[in-house]
Amino acid sequence: MKDTGAIVRSAWEAGIGVPAFNVPHLPMARAIIRAVADEDSFALVEVARLEWEKFSSRSLEAVAEEFHRWADFDHVRLHLDHVPAVDEDDREVDYLPIISRAIDIGFQSVMIDGSRLPLARNIEVTLEVAEVTREAGIPCEAELGVVLGHEEVPLPAYEELLRTGRGFTDPEEASQFVRETGCDWLSVAFGNVHGPVAMAFRDRKKVEARLDLVRLEALAEATGIPLVLHGGSGIRDEDVRRAFTRGVAKINVATEIRQVYEAALGRGENEEGAAEQVYRRVRSLIRETYRVSGSRGKV
Ligand code: 13P
Repeated sequence: MKDTGAIVRSAWEAGIGVPAFNVPHLPMARAIIRAVADEDSFALVEVARLEWEKFSSRSLEAVAEEFHRWADFDHVRLHLDHVPAVDEDDREVDYLPIISRAIDIGFQSVMIDGSRLPLARNIEVTLEVAEVTREAGIPCEAELGVVLGHEEVPLPAYEELLRTGRGFTDPEEASQFVRETGCDWLSVAFGNVHGPVAMAFRDRKKVEARLDLVRLEALAEATGIPLVLHGGSGIRDEDVRRAFTRGVAKINVATEIRQVYEAALGRGENEEGAAEQVYRRVRSLIRETYRVSGSRGKV
């Protein structure tokens, strides 16, 4: 079986995006897997710690079990998204045991998120995790810069954020970070923001984000590894596709498909009906937005 690291690298070299769909509610996993296979595409199925703590995916073990019930490894792989060293509520997290549990039960890549730490500490934490994943033979994703949006407070005005470049990843720091940590993929900030997870506004429609593609090119040049676009929901379509040809190999998508699922339940549909809506949205994202139908054979 070709490993996930090699697949993402071939996608990166070919300018093809690998979508990574989040599972905040367990029944979404099967719908995502089915949609990816029916489009003959390749994608990651992922879960972040905040999704088993704040939504209903229960635990990383529950998501892995659900994934393994339906997965076909030609089309999908399992990824552990955001395990923060300091979380969105400013609490310190004992990240290493979580990452070890995931590796033990077959996650095929993991993310350590030290982005709320000062640079030197983010490097230390990422290096520690990258050594563990290297031993396990799987890729390690890290984050540098701040992809805002998961916090309890609403986002600052988006236009202001874009204009000032607040939280954007600095290319020189990114170069040093990759050199010193040996991480395999890097999540960077260049106009992208996460959709809300705070209870008070998690139903709100996300702002349409735009990407600073000049900054992206500088980051790609400085790092030389596949870059990851977090906050994938609701970014202007053509910006997303341009990002795939300028160093972004993986795009994370949560809010858009979560809201589809929750809205269907809110209208009185059952879990199966809500999952069917997720299936349709994932197919349309693959086909129309990312244009990666049939990518399985290419990556
Ligand atoms: P969105 O919720 O904005 O799609 O972001 C998802 C994400 O980046 C998960 O890591």
